[in-house]
Amino acid sequence: MKKSLSFRLSVLLIIYTGLILLLASFTIINATHYHFQLYGNEMEQGHNQTELLNTHLEQAIIQSVGMTIGGALIVALILSIYIAKRISSPLISMKNLTLIMARGKRDVRLPLKGVPKDELGELAASINHLADQLQQQEQLRVSMTENIAHELRTPLTTLNSYLAAIQDGIWEATPERIQSSREEIHRLIHLVNDLEELQTLSSPDFDLSREEVQLVKSIDQVINFMQPSFSEKGVVLEKGIIPDITIYADEHRLIQIWTNLISNSLKFTQANGKVKIYGIMKPDGVQITVEDTGIGIPDKELSNVFERFYRVDKSRNRKMGGGGLGLAITKALVERHDGQIWAESNAGTLFHVYLPLK
Ligand code: ATP
Ligand code: MG
Repeated sequence: MKKSLSFRLSVLLIIYTGLILLLASFTIINATHYHFQLYGNEMEQGHNQTELLNTHLEQAIIQSVGMTIGGALIVALILSIYIAKRISSPLISMKNLTLIMARGKRDVRLPLKGVPKDELGELAASINHLADQLQQQEQLRVSMTENIAHELRTPLTTLNSYLAAIQDGIWEATPERIQSSREEIHRLIHLVNDLEELQTLSSPDFDLSREEVQLVKSIDQVINFMQPSFSEKGVVLEKGIIPDITIYADEHRLIQIWTNLISNSLKFTQANGKVKIYGIMKPDGVQITVEDTGIGIPDKELSNVFERFYRVDKSRNRKMGGGGLGLAITKALVERHDGQIWAESNAGTLFHVYLPLK
């Protein structure tokens, strides 16, 4: 049974008071009884009656008060040892642990085994949970920093060596070389923008500006905008049946979701391939699918592709690629809409997005 701390403290206080009252009653009865007996005996020996009574009453009171105080002190000592063991010592361990964590050590935890499930037990569990979160954040921060450094290093090194070669007169600054330098710079700008975007999306202050959006309209905009790139690569972009509904969403963000998925499909589909976008109604929502006949994704990588900086083919021709943040951003956007996104792959790849209607 779960016993709260206040309950246990009240019980202790009641027990303490009860014990003191018992002790007081017992010593009063005992001392009075004893002194009245003495008084009786001394009376028979002919002593002064009033004087005797006064002395024995005084003695009985002093003795019972003394014994009660002594007993109360002993009981208080025993109870305070119990309270110190049960309450202060877990609090001290928690304080020590938080101090250790504040100094940057993240792999320390409080033992929970055998700890009573009261407020203190819950506090210890919360502190452990907080430590887990901090450790995770720390790992994420470290891996993000490593990834960013890695992503920045390659284009910067390339640019630096281009410029050095031109400066040394080894290379001429031909339009092609300037163009490829600009592409590197463009990639850097893309990466920085994506990083900023991801930061914005994960901030608790970020809010969607939702309104009633015509689903088909948001998809048509992306199709029109992307059509030229498809024609250029020789890939067919097809619009299947899309439920004619309005959803309560942020139109700009919705367009961003379709753009990321369709541009991925274009990137990973060879000439003469096909990319199709279609949707079906689901209970309380709608499911939009972007399907392509591209290179596909191995089954075991299907859930990883939503991780930051994750790319299936690490050594892929860099010309093809962005920073691997597109799907992480897309997932964050879908989840901000209370939806879900998942991938499926057979010959090509299918990305499904479920969005609730309200
Ligand atoms: P960015 O979107 O930041 O420009 P990216 O496209 O490489 O870079 P994501 O959009 O996050 O990054 O995709 C992550 C990885 O998932 C890709 O590198 C690719 O390996 C795989 N992937 C995504 N979409 C497809 C697809 N339609 N077909 C095959 N692989 C895909
Ligand atoms: Mg992408």
